[in-house]
Amino acid sequence: MRNAIAILAMLLCSSCMFGQQLHGIDVSDLDRSADPCNDFFQFANGTWRAKNPIPASMTRWSKRWQAGETSKDKLRDILEDAEKQTNAPKGSTEQLIGDYYGACMDTAKINARGVDPIKPWFAEIDGAKNMAALQITVEKLHDFGVTAPFNLSGAQDLHNPTQVIADIGESALGLPERDYYLKPEQRFAEAREKYKEHIATMFKLAGWDEKKSSSAAQTVMTMETKFAEATLGRAELRDPKAADHKTSFAELQKMVPHFDWAEYYKHKQLPQDTGLNVDQPKFMAELDRQLAATPLADWKVYYQWHLLSGAAENLSDPLVNEDFAFNRKYLAGQSEIKPRWKRCTEQADQFLGEALGQLYVKKYFPPEAKARMQEMVKNLLAAMKDDISTRPWMSAETKQKAMEKLATFNPKIGYPDKWKDYSKVDIRRDTYFENVIAGSKFLVEDDRSTIGKPVDRGRWGLTPPTSDAYYNPLLNEIVFPAGILQPPAFYVDGVDAVNYGAIGVVIGHEISHGFDDEGAQFDSTGHLQNWWTEADLKQFQERGACVADQFDHYYIDKDVHHNGKLVLGESIGDLGGAKIAYMAYMKSLEGKPRPADIDGFTPEQQFFIAWGQFRGDEIRPEQQKLMVQTDPHPIAKYRVNGPLSNLPEFQQAFQCKDGSAMVRPAGKRCDVW
Ligand SMILES: [Zn+2]
Repeated sequence: MRNAIAILAMLLCSSCMFGQQLHGIDVSDLDRSADPCNDFFQFANGTWRAKNPIPASMTRWSKRWQAGETSKDKLRDILEDAEKQTNAPKGSTEQLIGDYYGACMDTAKINARGVDPIKPWFAEIDGAKNMAALQITVEKLHDFGVTAPFNLSGAQDLHNPTQVIADIGESALGLPERDYYLKPEQRFAEAREKYKEHIATMFKLAGWDEKKSSSAAQTVMTMETKFAEATLGRAELRDPKAADHKTSFAELQKMVPHFDWAEYYKHKQLPQDTGLNVDQPKFMAELDRQLAATPLADWKVYYQWHLLSGAAENLSDPLVNEDFAFNRKYLAGQSEIKPRWKRCTEQADQFLGEALGQLYVKKYFPPEAKARMQEMVKNLLAAMKDDISTRPWMSAETKQKAMEKLATFNPKIGYPDKWKDYSKVDIRRDTYFENVIAGSKFLVEDDRSTIGKPVDRGRWGLTPPTSDAYYNPLLNEIVFPAGILQPPAFYVDGVDAVNYGAIGVVIGHEISHGFDDEGAQFDSTGHLQNWWTEADLKQFQERGACVADQFDHYYIDKDVHHNGKLVLGESIGDLGGAKIAYMAYMKSLEGKPRPADIDGFTPEQQFFIAWGQFRGDEIRPEQQKLMVQTDPHPIAKYRVNGPLSNLPEFQQAFQCKDGSAMVRPAGKRCDVW
């Protein structure tokens, strides 16, 4: 498919520069039977989606997802090369990733061990004579990432963002979020029944009898439902103030007196005066209530369940398959499990991501890609500056503060300047499960070691091969790993319209996150502190409410629609991103000859088509419903049609009539940035 398009594009050669063929929009992906003014998502890439059904092992599919999967082929080559080097020195990158991958692929050995790897842990939990003894075991589980019912991690202090403090968050539930436990709708009621069946099946696979397994399922469900009642929903948690509860160690002890925090801190090697935030005090109160009231035997079952569930994908096939059947097939609609090599590749990226990533960027991320990205980021930041300065609803005073914030944006492109050192991680060719524990322990310790120290601004939250990007409001940084800086987001040899329409909008999106309903609460230093005048803040919130209302009306199914509050930040990001990327593109054309039309499409139209083609996912219905519940991103159709139907620039580019579906009525148009 890709080759056919390349050949077609070459024949057209509508955008040659210095004799070189540049990549333009993919005209063969368009659905010309669709009216761009009616459903632009369908128009921009309907034919591609029709010809490329979602593979059985995926829940979403588009050229971007395809590129993400192709990156895994590249990672596999690197891993297989390393696997062949059987005499690489212990602790070297080749030894670590080669042995990790080799052990992960050795399914004969993994299947022969069955559930044996977790049996000693089950026995240790069973052997605890009282809650104090059980806590000692739980601390060890936390060391390798089995963090129920709470998780202590490093987080920047919202009130002193140069410092990392401890942060305690809720981590008690096995279903995706609270509504699954509490809402009466049929889809949630069914998920609860399926979850109980799943828990019982898993325990049976671990060797328990029928009666013990089904009673365990009920125990877990009862405890988790109580936790769910005391937990905030995803939309509520998007407000940073909702999770802002700075407290002291003494207060923590008072909050949850039935847990020995002094012992926990000692185990974690954390000084008690290190600084602490508790995300959800109401949840902590419920935790204390259950610590006091729930029998020891039930707590043992609860921990055994979270250990079993967390470890399942690293055990023998029956557990891997049952874990997949519930969490991916039932909840997300993925019909087939990914091939073993791909799961092993994803895991190597998860546990040893900067070791693997170092080899990946050396091979696949050329310096010219970084240079062109730097240039685009600079142009997008300049466009945002122009945009802020011309916002009619904002006072000069607030504009000044917004400019200050924009001036401190820190773009990170491709890969970290300083790589993590994995040389002490004990990875062996013949001990897969223990490798997973070692990899998890490294990640937990790597995070814990940040607590109580000044912030290290060089750290990355994604590995280099990841096909994604993010904004971090505390560091005021926009981050683009090498994995996303490839087609269809970014073409080193692409026309500007396509690069601005795809990666340009992504850059604009991340910049706009600094000024969405969440990001706008942080100042230029990452301090959670208001910098808006009262009148401007009111204007900003009203403009946000317009976007939330727009998305509240986007339906996934008959009774299921997006939650505007949950997707508000991402949707402000998309609206602002599309607008400032368009501004930056227009500015880049100044003083140059106008670029050629491609197949009858003007440069302005190409820009929007590029966004529609980049963002054009087909998504399984189950995955859509899961997203509506848990994901702050809207589904792709609305990420394309939602922002564009607000933009006069889009209406003009395609000369859409007022009243078209892609043109929101004047009084309903949303305009934030
Ligand atoms: Zn985003």
